Amino acid sequence: MNTEHFKKLLLAKRRELRASLAALEEEASASGDAEVRDSTDAATASQGTAEAFEEGSIVSQTLEEVQDALRRMEDGSYGKCTVCGREIAPARLEAIPWTPYCLEDQEKLDAKTVQGATL
Ligand SMILES: [Zn+2]
Repeated sequence: MNTEHFKKLLLAKRRELRASLAALEEEASASGDAEVRDSTDAATASQGTAEAFEEGSIVSQTLEEVQDALRRMEDGSYGKCTVCGREIAPARLEAIPWTPYCLEDQEKLDAKTVQGATL
């Protein structure tokens, strides 16, 4: 497998995620410093912070997955599903280079998550 190609994609993604995390942090601290003028402003401000926080946690989660993928690249296990050990389809890696799962296991995990959320 041409890991160099995926390494480039992963490094570019890591740069992008770090930049958006920095921007979100700046945004969060700026809204935190803003003076509270009236209750409407306060509600709007706290809603914005919650959204930024949620977005930030998605970004940092993806960043972690990218870092893990880079580590797997170093130990030679990159491109194999961490659940079943089979090779992940190249088209899938092309779309999500940091994925640790094959499509089948991803679907199983997604199903589990949805079920957990409804219960
Ligand atoms: Zn699998």
